[in-house]
Amino acid sequence: MRALILSGLLACGAAVAKEGGVPTGKLPTDAAPLHYALHLTVDPRRDRFDGEARIRVRLAKASDHVWLHAQQMNIRAVHATDAAGKNADAKAITHGDTGVLEVRFAHSLAAQEIELAFDYDAPFNGQLEGVYKVKVGDDAYAVTQMEPVSARLAFPGFDEPRFKVPFDLVLTVPAQDVAVANTRVLREEKSADAAWKTLTFATTPPLPTYLVAFAVGPWDVADAPPIPPNAVRKGALPLRALGPRGSKDKLAWALEVAPAIVRFYEDYTAQPYPFDKLDLLGAPDFSAGAMENAGLIVYRDAYLLTDAHSAADHYRSVFNIEAHEIAHQWYGDLVTVPWWDDIWLNEAYATWGQAKATSSLRPEYHADLESLEARLYAMANDSLLSTRKIRQPILGRGDIETAFDSITYQKGAAVLAMFERWVGEDTFRKGMREYLASHAFGSGSSDDLIASLTRASGRGDAFAKGMRSFLDQPGVPLVRSELACDAGKARLTLAQSRYLPYGVLSKDAPRWGVPVCTRFGRGEGSDTQCFLLEAPEQQFEIAGGCPDWYLPNADARGYYRFDLATADLANLGAAAGKLSAPEQLVYADAVESGFRRGSVSAGALLDAMPALAGADAPQVATALLPRYEWIREHVADAATRPALDAWVTRLYAPRLGRLGWHRKDGEPGTDTALRTRIAEFLAMVVRDPATRAELGKQGRAALGLDGGGKPDLTRADADLRVTALKVAVQDGGLPAFDAAQAAFEASRDTTERYALLAALGATRDPALGARARDYGLTAAVQIGEMGRLYDAQADEPENRAALWAWLTRNFEPYRKRLPPFAQAWLPKTFSPGRCSTADADGMSAFLAPRTKDLIGGERGLGQTLEGIRQCSALREHVDRKALADWSAAHAKH
Ligand SMILES: [Zn+2]
Repeated sequence: MRALILSGLLACGAAVAKEGGVPTGKLPTDAAPLHYALHLTVDPRRDRFDGEARIRVRLAKASDHVWLHAQQMNIRAVHATDAAGKNADAKAITHGDTGVLEVRFAHSLAAQEIELAFDYDAPFNGQLEGVYKVKVGDDAYAVTQMEPVSARLAFPGFDEPRFKVPFDLVLTVPAQDVAVANTRVLREEKSADAAWKTLTFATTPPLPTYLVAFAVGPWDVADAPPIPPNAVRKGALPLRALGPRGSKDKLAWALEVAPAIVRFYEDYTAQPYPFDKLDLLGAPDFSAGAMENAGLIVYRDAYLLTDAHSAADHYRSVFNIEAHEIAHQWYGDLVTVPWWDDIWLNEAYATWGQAKATSSLRPEYHADLESLEARLYAMANDSLLSTRKIRQPILGRGDIETAFDSITYQKGAAVLAMFERWVGEDTFRKGMREYLASHAFGSGSSDDLIASLTRASGRGDAFAKGMRSFLDQPGVPLVRSELACDAGKARLTLAQSRYLPYGVLSKDAPRWGVPVCTRFGRGEGSDTQCFLLEAPEQQFEIAGGCPDWYLPNADARGYYRFDLATADLANLGAAAGKLSAPEQLVYADAVESGFRRGSVSAGALLDAMPALAGADAPQVATALLPRYEWIREHVADAATRPALDAWVTRLYAPRLGRLGWHRKDGEPGTDTALRTRIAEFLAMVVRDPATRAELGKQGRAALGLDGGGKPDLTRADADLRVTALKVAVQDGGLPAFDAAQAAFEASRDTTERYALLAALGATRDPALGARARDYGLTAAVQIGEMGRLYDAQADEPENRAALWAWLTRNFEPYRKRLPPFAQAWLPKTFSPGRCSTADADGMSAFLAPRTKDLIGGERGLGQTLEGIRQCSALREHVDRKALADWSAAHAKH
């Protein structure tokens, strides 16, 4: 799902990059692997593991050396055997910490198939990549995470996605441990002293190195009935779930929902699930959300385990992540991208496919609204001049790392959905099926996919050009729309430019091929017409005459923003009740993005809130709350803030009152989600005393304060638990903080631990805040847990100055604990609330010289600083006097 890197490699997209003759980018093409046989001896209680790797290699031309990858390993011996079975003298040469390994022969070998055999040992990794270990109490687990370039920490190999070959894996592990890998176990043999066992796994289908996976430890194993054969798949598919010791019962739900998800994709793709079994494994510490290893999906255990006390939102997340990772078994695993500049294909497909599967199998989760909300978040990032393109050239390792961002996932998925909407679902599926069938067990690029979809679409070059315009240039199109009505005839003028927030200027004039599907409202009904906007400005005749209102993003499937004449926007606002929930959210975004552009006033934005606040969909009801929070923090002052807060509390508190403080049996998920959102907003942003009193009571009960005995987090409402614990710690001083810390240390449940860490981080007490910050760097807090604490710290305005001062003193130890994939986003963690050029300059002065120590740090810092400067420009622009007038006019007398 996401990825990480540690190595010092530099990768280059175009040609073979070399540093001092060492190919630090793509490897040369004159040697390629044909097959791997790996035998690893792994005891998670030790510090190192041992390996033997035999790789069959085809030499396309005569050579006295082969380049491949290996990193941070001790190669004890290397042997080369030629096609005749003769031993050729060989030695292994490492080149610093480049991750590149050279095998040099005593004599040049002719073009032929040879075998390279390595004998090596390596340390378990300390940053959750390659082969790493996690200790939980006295238990030790070994887990792998290879994507994108960490297989070279596990075994010598050709560590690039374009090399897809079969693997034979043998693991020797302590006899009492459970070991799993990509395929089924064929054989298991005990050592003579019964201390060890050796497992031989079935040969894999062709895989890139980054999808090889295994895990060793005292796992609980939950078996499920095999998934029965169907029209697409002939055999039954074995299914299991694994988790840390003691977690077996919590694996049941993830197992229960898996078969329908597998069947969904088999039906959609017309390709059988590609591997010989499916294991879902929850690791006690993991850097990303989950990873789509072929046949062995590895999750953070928190994202796989559920129980009767889990939040409703948690079940939805588990389902979504499972749907995402299972989608990858086709996209990414069955068909793999040849190089990292196409990684969007994997992630965009999995994100888009997940929404499709969820909409079909769990309509009550409203995947359309959820993915739209995520798309709007990506649009905010895409509004930065420093944003990435979907297909950003890969010029360095930071580019590989930062390729796993919202542009790849959410924008990529939105572009697929938009073109699918344009050509129709059946047509689009035909193209997708053809793409998968023609590249199965091989590689496929963006060009290959576009070719398949274009053929299916029957729209020729316009389709290909349109898609490419979204892949190969950054930014969100802004579609300016004007409607002219004359003697019953209607004409729409559409013009395109790049959406830019207030104060941002760009000389570029990008042009997209945008399918603009538009809903025209007439009386009680409406109709939809689609136009392809390719020129800077185009006119279109509207069938059906002059509408009462119109929405230039029907079904909310377009990846663009629109700008309407004030009267047209007002007509649309008045007709909001006739729009679908996703369309209402797009309308809210039109208001919000107009505000960010400086063309909608703060008063107009606030005026739009009451009509949305009553919506059933939580995403719609709360759509403008983040912007309210921004206005409250950055524009309002001590004089206007109380009136604004009183106004917004009157708008939302009665609704929370009707929803109540606990989830009711059988209540709709939308009510549950709304309760969570409103309660959090009122308690944490507005700090409404009544809301805090109720949540604080729940939080104190959960912590066992007030003579409640032992902590029991189930005493707080499952959906309000995190906020309740935060309030309890914020208002409860040292005893509450101590209780939360003790509960954290006693808990083996990762979801509970996350909630308790967020509560510790949220303290507003200066002394306790200092304690919390230092605590995050101790071994008590796992690497994958740190973010919960520091994000919660940064959320509280009172903590921000101290948090920043702390970072300037603790940068090195903090950075060293970060998984490589998280390093680029370090600046963002410390940016909340920063909204002035002085803030940006101060952050830049400290971090700019240090980005060289952060993988992808330059991009992460650049985007963060630009965001702060945009915030500052908008803040200067907003009319404070007008806001004061608005709040006076809306104060209750
Ligand atoms: Zn993914």
